[in-house]
Amino acid sequence: MDLEELPLRMHSIQTLGCVDGPGLRMVVFCQGCPLNCSYCHNPDTRTGRGGQIFTRQALAERIQRSRPYFGRRGGVTFSGGEPLAQAVSLVPMLEDCQAAGIHTAIDTAGVVLSPPVRRIMELADMFILDIKHAHDEGFRQLTGGSLQRSLDFLDALVSLGKPVWIRQVMVPGITMIDEQVQALGDLLLAKGRQRIIERVELLPFHRMADHKYEEMGIPLPLPGVADADPIAVRELAKLLDARGLPVPQTGQPAASPPPPPAISQATSKV
Ligand code: SF4
Repeated sequence: MDLEELPLRMHSIQTLGCVDGPGLRMVVFCQGCPLNCSYCHNPDTRTGRGGQIFTRQALAERIQRSRPYFGRRGGVTFSGGEPLAQAVSLVPMLEDCQAAGIHTAIDTAGVVLSPPVRRIMELADMFILDIKHAHDEGFRQLTGGSLQRSLDFLDALVSLGKPVWIRQVMVPGITMIDEQVQALGDLLLAKGRQRIIERVELLPFHRMADHKYEEMGIPLPLPGVADADPIAVRELAKLLDARGLPVPQTGQPAASPPPPPAISQATSKV
């Protein structure tokens, strides 16, 4: 099989999402992830097996059907799981979107930097980069991965001038700590990274994915850790806002969380 025609293994599609990038978007949740985040909200996307197989042609047709809803600002977001774990499959799909003038975003932890990923960096219109923890040891404990990889990824985006939204989940006692948030700010303000950062979002940890763990028969993550208080998270976000980072809706009420999804539907992190 031609490598360029490798199909995409995806978990599910959200036809119209409004939090994973600008405007109304079709969100494609890809199957498979190299990380093992303690708080993962989509544990059913982590395995590289299962899911549905979508060819380049099938995905292009699906995107075209949703296109009338995108308006001027919307488009397609590839999320997961980790979409860049299937970079070889994504490249021709992103080429199709670019040729059709469809805005694309990649929602990633940024821990994969291969030649096809570098091609994706050129093709996608923007990235949503989830920096899991601002200290390497904390990152490793929380995810099993390396902070430096996410930073190398961010610096590669800086060199391309590619717009990025930064996200971090506020987990009480783990990331939801003043010092950790300030350290995140230090990272974002270093090395000219601020130039490409359009938005920084701190997302309250919630336990809405617990039912997925129960249905999958695996232990609940972070037992004893409660939902993060959204008001306290907004207060923490003010630390970044005060340093000139683009934090949206400071002081505004947080959006209501969506209802718990069925296990067959992956969810956005917001
Ligand atoms: S990167 Fe996302 S999908 Fe992968 S383990 Fe972490 S939270 Fe789950």
